[in-house]
Amino acid sequence: MRRAGLLVGETLALLKDSIKVGMRTDALDAIAAANIKRGGGTSNFKGYHGFPATVCISINDEIVHGIPGDRVIEDGDVVSIDCGAIIDGWHGDAAFSVGVGKVDPADQKMMDVCEESMWRGIAAGRLGAKLSDIGHAIESYTDAQGKYGILQEYGGHGIGTEMHQAPHVLNFGKPGFGPEIVVGMALAIEPMITRGTHKTKVLKDNWTVVSNDKSRGSHFENSYCIAPDGKPFVLTSLDGGREKLGALGIEISSLL
Ligand code: MG
Ligand code: MG
Repeated sequence: MRRAGLLVGETLALLKDSIKVGMRTDALDAIAAANIKRGGGTSNFKGYHGFPATVCISINDEIVHGIPGDRVIEDGDVVSIDCGAIIDGWHGDAAFSVGVGKVDPADQKMMDVCEESMWRGIAAGRLGAKLSDIGHAIESYTDAQGKYGILQEYGGHGIGTEMHQAPHVLNFGKPGFGPEIVVGMALAIEPMITRGTHKTKVLKDNWTVVSNDKSRGSHFENSYCIAPDGKPFVLTSLDGGREKLGALGIEISSLL
């Protein structure tokens, strides 16, 4: 899973470096497809329930599941990219949002809050914790930063020999419920928030999820596991989560 996760992390880093005002989103999709192939992986998105592309690209009021195409990225757009890959049957899944060009500070703050909430969710999902501790950490951090809508119909998930496995991981809720976090568990943690409502609808393409009030959204995701030494390791992060989890007082596993 580290091999698949690292390929996803590298592909997302490449996309973040490549994204520019004036670029079509299908050009970013082509970059992702070529990089996954180069790394010896295959896409778990392409063909998933008929999804036609290698990455999801969602812009502004599109929060997740946007389809790359002829849309051109404009100055100030908030662009969310979600990517996955399979190596030897094992899956990785991760996402980020980035402001392109001249970014509205309120958009940047939303993205920073979303990313930090993801790290706090992973930190809360330590050995011996309960599953709902993750969503509680995400929600309580987000709510303390301002008025954001946390999407409720979408959330994180188990990951392994399939991209989406049980359990579903809510991005909100009370702590102390659900299964215990144990060694060997692998979860994708993915908060999705907007600057307005948590309510969403799906566009006529049957994929793109947009906010009901047209407010802009953000999506960050990493896949992590609890390694045999009981410590977490972020499979889709280039440094395994060392820096970001370290800042929260969590030491990552040295086994991977
Ligand atoms: Mg994803
Ligand atoms: Mg996911």
